[in-house]
Amino acid sequence: MNIILLGPPGAGKGTQAAMLVDERNMIQLSTGDMLREARTSGTEMGKMVAGVMDRGELVTDEIVIGLIREKLEGDAKGGFIFDGFPRTLAQADALAELLVETNQTLDYVVELAVDDEVLVERILGRAAEAVAAGGEARADDNEESLKVRLMAYYKQTSPLIGYYHAKGQLQSVDGLGTMDEVKASIGKALS
Ligand code: AMP
Repeated sequence: MNIILLGPPGAGKGTQAAMLVDERNMIQLSTGDMLREARTSGTEMGKMVAGVMDRGELVTDEIVIGLIREKLEGDAKGGFIFDGFPRTLAQADALAELLVETNQTLDYVVELAVDDEVLVERILGRAAEAVAAGGEARADDNEESLKVRLMAYYKQTSPLIGYYHAKGQLQSVDGLGTMDEVKASIGKALS
């Protein structure tokens, strides 16, 4: 089973993906994590995307499609969870082609629906927690980048809701509530 978790920044995609990995032996493909890794390891690509990410804008389709292509050629175990990908219609089309090429299917698209106010609270809370724990907040977890990230979501990513709805693949889940409540709703959507 391959699924997409769709939703704005702070909707809980990463948290829910991690739970699906633990319980269903699925593989989480987070393009955000892959890009942050590229930055930490100092690759050319990592250096190229750093400023764009910190501002909260989207990196090019070509880069993220390349990252996903590599992973789809590997072992699929219990299936892939696409977390933070696709984020544009071009990425969604590319994903459909890649799945055909690798003889796989897209089984569900789960939208996590959350109010903007909750997103801002969650993300600024996540930054404060990271600092309180002695670490560093994500460079893009600040109010200014967050505004850009939300706008990128509404302008570039939210059209995917209509796209997958039209394909009959969209399941919408209430992303408010506790982690376990959201997890239970996703479980229902996938059954
Ligand atoms: P995330 O961890 O999913 O919030 O992603 C962090 C940042 O990485 C985003 O704000 C973008 O700059 C970049 N990014 C992650 N995934 C994508 C994607 N599918 N398309 C374009 N940019 C992405």
